[in-house]
Amino acid sequence: MAWAGKLLRVNLTAGTCTTEALRMDWAKLYLGQRGLATKYFVEEVDAKVDPLSPENKLIWATGPLTGTMASTGGRYSVITKGPLTGAIACSNSGGYWGAELKMAGWDMIIFEGKSPKPVYLSIVDDVVELRDASHLWGKTVWQTEEMLKKESQDPLTRVSSIGRSGENGVLFACIVNDLHRAAGRSGVGAVAGSKNLKAIAVRGTKGVGNIRDPKQFMKVTAEKKKILRDHPVTGQGLPTYGTQVLMNVINETGALPTRNHRDVQFEGASKISAEAMAEKRPTDGKSHLVTNQACFGCTIACGRISKLDETHFSVKNKPEYWGASGGLEYEAAWALGAAGGINDLEALQYANMLCNEDGYDPISFGATVGAAMELYEMGVLTKEHTGGLELKFGSAEMLCKLAELVAKGEGFGKEIGLGSKRLCTKYGHPELSMSVKSQEFPAYDSRGIQGMGLTYATSNRGACHLRSYTVASEILGIPVKTDPLVTEGKADLVKAFQDATAAFDSSGTCVFTTFAWTLADLAPQVAAACGEEFTMENLGLIGERIWNLERDFNNRAGFSRKDDDLPPRLKTEAAKTGPAKGLVSGIDKMIPEYYAARGWDDNGQLKADTRARLGL
Ligand code: SF4
Repeated sequence: MAWAGKLLRVNLTAGTCTTEALRMDWAKLYLGQRGLATKYFVEEVDAKVDPLSPENKLIWATGPLTGTMASTGGRYSVITKGPLTGAIACSNSGGYWGAELKMAGWDMIIFEGKSPKPVYLSIVDDVVELRDASHLWGKTVWQTEEMLKKESQDPLTRVSSIGRSGENGVLFACIVNDLHRAAGRSGVGAVAGSKNLKAIAVRGTKGVGNIRDPKQFMKVTAEKKKILRDHPVTGQGLPTYGTQVLMNVINETGALPTRNHRDVQFEGASKISAEAMAEKRPTDGKSHLVTNQACFGCTIACGRISKLDETHFSVKNKPEYWGASGGLEYEAAWALGAAGGINDLEALQYANMLCNEDGYDPISFGATVGAAMELYEMGVLTKEHTGGLELKFGSAEMLCKLAELVAKGEGFGKEIGLGSKRLCTKYGHPELSMSVKSQEFPAYDSRGIQGMGLTYATSNRGACHLRSYTVASEILGIPVKTDPLVTEGKADLVKAFQDATAAFDSSGTCVFTTFAWTLADLAPQVAAACGEEFTMENLGLIGERIWNLERDFNNRAGFSRKDDDLPPRLKTEAAKTGPAKGLVSGIDKMIPEYYAARGWDDNGQLKADTRARLGL
């Protein structure tokens, strides 16, 4: 079967590495990656744990399809209790690192405790070793990758690491691999930093040879790749334009949050769109976009590699400029752009490059800058607070300056690095943090896309679009078109998306396949690799079980009905323009319907029969 069948447990306090057999009874119930690692996590960690204490654990996990020839089968997840949110955190990443870990023969690595000094973990197949990382501490992600590849004397070594922001306790610090791919949200990088864990360097030469029915697996994965190739989104839209193609679409829909969600349409959207990325610049005659890029085994290739205009003010003073960087992706372009009313594409690319280089989440960063700009405009924040920075909406200079300060952990960047909830609370306006469970919203306004409001409010890791992307249905009509402006039917829609996404996230494949695939397409691939019991129905049940497992942990951590809510702005200030003009979010109507669909009580706790049905 496609699991490697073993995990590595690393005690950072004692400096020990031990091998354990994978709990196959749990793998049957939780599949792998997000689901299985969460099962280990909730069994081993007290829900009340301080996320930045040695008692918190940090798990890197692959899925059964990671490293196989299933399309997009290169994913891994990082699971912990998130310091930004205080909730369960699971952040996924693509690139090549996950497949390399699997090919070294490991399903999962569990880190516990705290190292007395900076360390990194070296894995070459079965040979594992904790090594001194003093020389890497203070280095960026990109420097760390380069140094560890050189040290290993093997250019195929893959590195998953934190940058300076993770070391400095930025609460939305990421874990980054392959330069541009990140386990991006909830501050998983800050947990690594708190443990003095800089990186994992891995080289695997074993392959993934234990597929249950190799012939059937080859046949079915080839069929499913064809579906991706033939679909207009996964076969044309994403490879050609990347996710940023959504910028103009969502703006026209009237759901592009602008200036800290004061507006729902951005007058500068076309200047920061995918189309603008492909245009030639008047300054140097070159387009921003260099090429697209695929993660391991991916037949979609949504990734972007772009190059800045070297005469732009942002790069002029950066001698170590690398020349090209990942992005822009839609969410980052929105957060760094529309959220602060900024339409300077080069500045967005520069800030995004720093997010990649030093490992912090551009969504939370950009949204926090937007909140700070509103506080500044209100006169609540002044130049005395900001160290002389004039944080006006629309200022590309301020965006770039703050990105530099956050990366280095200096000046007002330290306050930005704590996220918008803590910033707005400190200055007396918690209601201006556009977040749920202290995690900032991504790029869709809940007044213009009602289902996304419910998605955000109920997301187990705080506001997130990747837990239930109802934009697919409400805007793109996938798998069926629903009206984005109404609340009717959204409870069931969100539940269905959440459960299916949990199954995809636990399989080792990328959620972007779900533009073309359903669980009916995933099931035969998992079945051929792992066992006939993985039918479509069973995968749906596994997804639901995982969702409830995460929820139950959060409930024990202290979350309840009061935390499944949106900021007052979205419930009381109607959209001013666009198709949603005059509308507010109908979240208060949707929550009871959603709880009923989930089998939870009025306070959002699992009822006994729900627990029994799911075996929790
Ligand atoms: S669709 Fe994009 S993010 Fe997903 S695996 Fe492919 S390249 Fe990576």
